[in-house]
Amino acid sequence: MNTLIPLHPVVAIPVADSDVVFPVRRVYCVGRNYAEHAKEMGFTGREDPFFFSKPADALLNVANGQTGVMPYPPKTSNLHYEIELVVALDKGGRDLTLEQAAECVWGYGIGLDMTRRDLQGEAKKLGRPWEVGKAFDFSAPIGPLHPRSQLGTLDAGAISLSVNGQVKQSSDLSQMIWSVAESIAYLSGLFELKAGDIIFTGTPEGVGPVVVGDMLVGAVAGLGELQVKIA
Ligand code: MN
Repeated sequence: MNTLIPLHPVVAIPVADSDVVFPVRRVYCVGRNYAEHAKEMGFTGREDPFFFSKPADALLNVANGQTGVMPYPPKTSNLHYEIELVVALDKGGRDLTLEQAAECVWGYGIGLDMTRRDLQGEAKKLGRPWEVGKAFDFSAPIGPLHPRSQLGTLDAGAISLSVNGQVKQSSDLSQMIWSVAESIAYLSGLFELKAGDIIFTGTPEGVGPVVVGDMLVGAVAGLGELQVKIA
């Protein structure tokens, strides 16, 4: 095949303790999936799930025990962290049942859905799309993936984020409004899901701003930590 410009590199997430990588097709995100976060954003916490996307090349891989460096993005003065459980699918389909949806999960990782909250807020107010607030370069730092075959299904366990050693977000995966399987099943009614899709499953309450020099440490029980410095 003659390509007009060089082929784009495949985006892939390393698998923990292995030299295998997981090639990424699409990055879906669930909005407002913890009741207390929905409330802090001005909602009741009982709405149907909704979704948005980030481009796969917005992912920023952070290896185990390393500190990822995320450049402070342009055109914002209110960059927020959102710690999230990420699920990686090794199969997909349309209109999946809850059982089928659960079987699509190959593994799990820790992710940050970094958000230009001021631009997102303006977009909401004006009825415009969220891309400028959510889908910018380096907006999705992510740690290595851990197989479900080893961990079992993660439907409970601590999820937290600290900034410069101070705990800002602290909740439990069991507090999700829509479980991982429910989110996947719902999403599969809107899009045909495929192997290589990953889903950011929403953030608990306590979101807030970071500035250059801040050190973020996210943790999910069973998955270790994700460390990111804002540069
Ligand atoms: Mn989010």
